[in-house]
Amino acid sequence: MIVDTETRLIAPHGGELVDRTGDRPSGVDALETLTLTSRELSDLDMLASGALSPLEGFMGREDYESVLESMRLSSGLPWALPVCLAVDAAPSGDQVALADQSGMLYAVLEVEGTYEYDQEREAQAAFRTTDHAHPGVARLYEQKPLYLAGRVTVFERTVPPFPELAKDPAETRAEFAERGWRRVVGFQTRNPIHRAHEYLTKVALETVDGLLIHPLVGDTKSDDVPAATRVECYRALLDGYYPADRVVLSAFPAAMRYAGPREAIWHAICRKNYGCSHFIVGRDHAGVGDYYGTYDAQLIFDEFEPHELDIEPMFFEHSFWCRACGSMASAKTCPHDSDQHVFLSGTKVREMLGAGELPPEEFSRPEVAEVLIEAYHR
Ligand SMILES: [Zn+2]
Repeated sequence: MIVDTETRLIAPHGGELVDRTGDRPSGVDALETLTLTSRELSDLDMLASGALSPLEGFMGREDYESVLESMRLSSGLPWALPVCLAVDAAPSGDQVALADQSGMLYAVLEVEGTYEYDQEREAQAAFRTTDHAHPGVARLYEQKPLYLAGRVTVFERTVPPFPELAKDPAETRAEFAERGWRRVVGFQTRNPIHRAHEYLTKVALETVDGLLIHPLVGDTKSDDVPAATRVECYRALLDGYYPADRVVLSAFPAAMRYAGPREAIWHAICRKNYGCSHFIVGRDHAGVGDYYGTYDAQLIFDEFEPHELDIEPMFFEHSFWCRACGSMASAKTCPHDSDQHVFLSGTKVREMLGAGELPPEEFSRPEVAEVLIEAYHR
């Protein structure tokens, strides 16, 4: 592990934590203004905070091509997904202002150039499918036809949905360092945490100093559980079942891309910037529908030499309560038949919660189930 000499934590991706925040330049109101999509806005904010280090702006053609072809930036550093800004036409000036749908200005971009891109090719490389029914591919196909490259300076940060959970990489790093942690495992989730997730985060925590529970609260598909409900569930679980001095809960501001394996790599690299030395990768990480094989998001890590990513992935199986073992277990650790296992399908759980019924305690902590039941009846 390459260590940051000051904090003793893992060094950011590429060595230095990028900071693209700055003062609002005079004359910004006179610039040509581009309106960003919500995905582009969340990328912009992550560029500002260094969550996407070493990127300092939206990708140019060389990096973009290299990422699609070989999962590396043109410098050779691993990078799994395009971070691009789509536009209708090349700007006339050498600077543009970046705004949200309401016209609020956030940043200035120094124009490096525009380039054409092939949406189907990007879809195949990044998402492994060209199917319009894939939510990430559908969003890509709706994009404007050119990519605009350039370094950004962000003078207005987006308002986070949960301000008390908003922590930039510099802040999580400072918090880890203050607690004396060196090895920290990051856990990405976009779902409520049931016993299975509690188990694997705790198994991981047994081997390191601290745990970062880092739920994604950016854009997700509309049928995922609302972010506010999920945050309530995390709080209920942390209050009751985790030692406060070993866990940090913070929101991950990324928009979900549903790119499965490549997104798992991308998620790991981002967490490295937040100071995590380890990253939990379960089955079907960041997947959607049946576009990806169950283990694809784990197998893709083998395409890199271990030292290349530096952050260490920790792979997990689905886990469950086994009555015969009398504990949580997985297919890897339990020899008993599945009739000994407490397992409920997602559909069954939703049915029970919808009917106001608590799932078995071996499946879901009652404090968490109660939050979900309440949310169903709002
Ligand atoms: Zn068993």
